[in-house]
Amino acid sequence: MFFFFVYFLLLLMVCLVARNKGKSVLLHFFVNTVGAVVVVLVLGSIFGGNGLLFSVLPLISLIVLSFAEKTKQAEVRQSSTEDLRKCQFCAELVRKEAIKCKHCGSTLTAENA
Ligand SMILES: [Zn+2]
Repeated sequence: MFFFFVYFLLLLMVCLVARNKGKSVLLHFFVNTVGAVVVVLVLGSIFGGNGLLFSVLPLISLIVLSFAEKTKQAEVRQSSTEDLRKCQFCAELVRKEAIKCKHCGSTLTAENA
């Protein structure tokens, strides 16, 4: 049962990382549950059953996800928690400390958003 614990822990991590990267959590959850069963059935019949096989797929997913690029959505979601304000010229979000808008290049005046 130890391997199931490891598997669910990895599955949870995959879902968390997927969420953080703006990927579909449901898709990763599905791939890693259905995929894990397939991996265990296929590899298990070749190499003999081993609970460790359950953890192989989520581990691979985790590695793949950690190298995956963040989607634009995830970046926007993350940056919205930082100190941002709207550019008074183009209405795009820029950092509070910014003196020049990265979107339209306008010189920004301080703190009057
Ligand atoms: Zn601007």
